[in-house]
Amino acid sequence: THFGFETVPETEKAKRVYKVFENVAQKYDTMNDAMSLGVHRLWKDTLLHVMHPQRGVRLLDVAGGTGDIAFRFLEYVRFQQERQKRRAARSMQAPSWQDISNNYSTEEEDGAQESRAVVCDINKEMLRVGKQKADGLGISAGLSWVVGDAEELPFDDDQFDIYTIAFGIRNVTHIDQALQEALRVLKPGGRFMCLEFSKVTNPVLARLYDAYSFQMIPVLGEVIAGDWKSYQYLVESIRKFPDQEEFKDMIEDAGFYSVKYSNLTGGVVALHSGFKL
Ligand code: SAM
Repeated sequence: THFGFETVPETEKAKRVYKVFENVAQKYDTMNDAMSLGVHRLWKDTLLHVMHPQRGVRLLDVAGGTGDIAFRFLEYVRFQQERQKRRAARSMQAPSWQDISNNYSTEEEDGAQESRAVVCDINKEMLRVGKQKADGLGISAGLSWVVGDAEELPFDDDQFDIYTIAFGIRNVTHIDQALQEALRVLKPGGRFMCLEFSKVTNPVLARLYDAYSFQMIPVLGEVIAGDWKSYQYLVESIRKFPDQEEFKDMIEDAGFYSVKYSNLTGGVVALHSGFKL
């Protein structure tokens, strides 16, 4: 039944997660820098390098929060585009095929090839902070913000070239359901990419990491955000999440192909990816 033993903790988890991110939204970016000593920026940059998106790509960033992945994505494709234009201008005498298509594309075609990112998150407060940040930075073009649950995405089938979820999937109650949804909304040939805390492989680093996270993170949470409990939850949710191999199996079970992962910072974080055929 709905009130059975199984379902109660699940609903509680979703409620708890919502409260945590509602509480921390305003301080979320500062906390990320403080807790990871800035390293979360490198993890996110790595995701973009591996993704290497081209112009015209449509990205869905689920559990996108304050927009870090989407911002990096737009920055990356715009930088690539500028580079191609400069290259085309330099090589007017012997243009490559790429240059020809750049030079002769009309405004309209350029518009059609514009990359777009959708940031989807269950938490309105996180999205509000993100949107404010995007407006402030003047990077709102090409971005949209959608409230939605990873387990029941408010999008049609076969819509996106890339689906990302960064530090979000461990907060989802039914991971298998979220993976099914990722598969559904991706176009055939589309790519799933996930950054998540994982299992530290080196035993020495593992002990340091345990000490740091169990003892320091709730303290930082209290000092910076006045919120010990939310950050204690964060540490616990990391411990409960499946390790690299288990998570890889789950992605394969959902129906993705060529699933692989790489460890970042000795397995503190893992980057998993797979394709929809
Ligand atoms: N991706 C961002 C980043 O890397 O900075 C934010 C990550 S933050 C740790 C986790 C986010 O997951 C929160 O914004 C939270 O609201 C969102 N979230 C939790 N459960 C969700 C769900 N079921 N569907 C969509 N988003 C969810």
